[in-house]
Amino acid sequence: MNKKPSTEMLGHGYHAAHYHGSMKQPIYQTSTYEFPNAQAGKNYFAWATGKEEMPEGESMGNIYSRLGSPNTQLLEKRLALLDECDEAVVFASGMAAISSALLEVAKPGTVLLHTGPVYGGTHSFIHHYLAQFNVYSYTIDRNLNAEEIIVDVRSKYPNTPVCGFFTETPANPTMDLYSIQKARVIVDAFTSDEWPVPLIVDNTYMGPLMSAQHANGADIVLYSATKNLGGHSDIIAGAATGSSYWMGRLRMARTFIGGILGPMDSWLLLRSLETFELRTKAQQANTHKVAEALANHPAIEAVKYLGNLESWAPDMLETFNDEYSGTGSMIAMHIKGREKEAFKVLDHLEVFKLGVSLGSTESLAEHPFSMTHAKVDDELKPKIGITENLIRLSIGVEDAEDLIHDLNTALNLII
Ligand code: PLP
Repeated sequence: MNKKPSTEMLGHGYHAAHYHGSMKQPIYQTSTYEFPNAQAGKNYFAWATGKEEMPEGESMGNIYSRLGSPNTQLLEKRLALLDECDEAVVFASGMAAISSALLEVAKPGTVLLHTGPVYGGTHSFIHHYLAQFNVYSYTIDRNLNAEEIIVDVRSKYPNTPVCGFFTETPANPTMDLYSIQKARVIVDAFTSDEWPVPLIVDNTYMGPLMSAQHANGADIVLYSATKNLGGHSDIIAGAATGSSYWMGRLRMARTFIGGILGPMDSWLLLRSLETFELRTKAQQANTHKVAEALANHPAIEAVKYLGNLESWAPDMLETFNDEYSGTGSMIAMHIKGREKEAFKVLDHLEVFKLGVSLGSTESLAEHPFSMTHAKVDDELKPKIGITENLIRLSIGVEDAEDLIHDLNTALNLII
């Protein structure tokens, strides 16, 4: 029987009979594993390090929890199923996933193509960390078509191999979409069998199901699983999904960099996946109601979310229709005023919690200019849409009327 993802998140890859009938997988709170004999230990290392292929009929045993545990393995199976790809690799945080992926592909003397804005931590990693290792960065001009970008990269970086294309879409916090199909055309111009260039997509804002980024052409999809996938603001976690080739490379990078997710947090994430679809659908329905109710408030300059693109970014509609099947739970709310007015609104919200992060069951509000994107140059921020009057809202599962009342009450204070 071909089961739906919402069903599979409760059972895929798990047989209670192998675990004393335990309805949920036990937590393997151990750092190391006992080998049955020395030859088995030798084999496990040879297979895990890629020194030898595992022969048919053999099975891999556990070695050491920095390489993986039964909890990470089950979680990875379910994430791969959810994101419709070969494999997944889980990390200790979204930044561990992003930095490991970028360190794996970026080599000194190469150039990384990327869109902007990206999450503040990713921005710093590209511009401060990778730059130290002589990895150049090229920010994609959204106004150019794929052909123009290819020509521009070649003329600005002659004789410099492209190591990857990184995009965050929808972008945090502006909600800008970048077409993965367009990015694919650009990547294909620089990739070859000898020099595979991955198209890397940070899909944290939407999560799987509402945007099938592998079907659109992505090679590596990254998540801060702290957000929608975790969904309860109680863990920090990250994930990468993709083909066996790219996941094999990222798994090896994880082993050496060391950023694996622990057994307890893997178990919590498995718990969260059981309600992933349910939560995201409820949050999406709430977001729609909140965005509609806010649109005509006199203290609002613009409400941007994926459900009203025609009012603020009609040029992105085609990408949305081609590459997304949902509108998500994030809103970029531009109020009339500047930081003072934004802070007044934030300080008077009661149901919304003033805090960073997103995609959780509770609704959250924050000020990207001074908080999540504080480290982006102040002059650059307005150019990429991060203005002082922007409040980022992440909509949770509370009653929509309560959320609307809360926002209206705070917004009325700045009319
Ligand atoms: N990517 C995006 C889009 C984010 O919003 C964040 C965190 O806010 C991250 C990555 C980093 O994830 P983590 O905090 O789990 O390291």
